[in-house]
Amino acid sequence: MSFTVAIVGRPNVGKSTFFNRLLEQRKAIVDDVSGVTRDRQYGVTDWNGKTFNVIDTGGFVAGSDDVFESEIRKQVKIAIDEADALIFMTDVAVGITELDEAMADMLRRYKTPVFMAVNKVDNSERQLAATEFYSMGFDEIFFLSSMTGSGTGELLDAITALI
Ligand code: GDP
Ligand code: MG
Repeated sequence: MSFTVAIVGRPNVGKSTFFNRLLEQRKAIVDDVSGVTRDRQYGVTDWNGKTFNVIDTGGFVAGSDDVFESEIRKQVKIAIDEADALIFMTDVAVGITELDEAMADMLRRYKTPVFMAVNKVDNSERQLAATEFYSMGFDEIFFLSSMTGSGTGELLDAITALI
């Protein structure tokens, strides 16, 4: 059985940084030959001896905060269609935005398991600030830094427990 995890979230929260970190040990980014999937990157990685596919969404709008909710909606739908679990990534450096709220509302409508991740928790000051994300109503939140790697193991443990 192959298991697929998609990373969703508004632009600039660090989805691609996390994706690249996941694939560091095992370089397996699947090249986009056809050109159809320009806005997504596919990879294969493993953790705890379990192999799974990873999708990095939203590459098309990377580097821009000026993204329409319709674009995000499209990305979420694709991710839901293709993935067995989702990482919903947010960013403590910016805090909770309207797009984060809109995405959370969307994700709540599906049965696909969602792992809420607050990224850019690089230090203890940010760890404190990150508690505001509990207000979004997810039971469990993973605080991590895709830059330093801190907290990423806990998230991967939880995800691979589903496989
Ligand atoms: P994406 O649009 O969600 O794919 O975000 P990117 O991965 O392109 O990252 C957006 C910016 O956030 C880049 O400048 C990254 O270097 C930065 N970034 C990503 N993860 C972290 C992190 O854990 N800590 C900090 N401080 N910056 C990060
Ligand atoms: Mg990206």
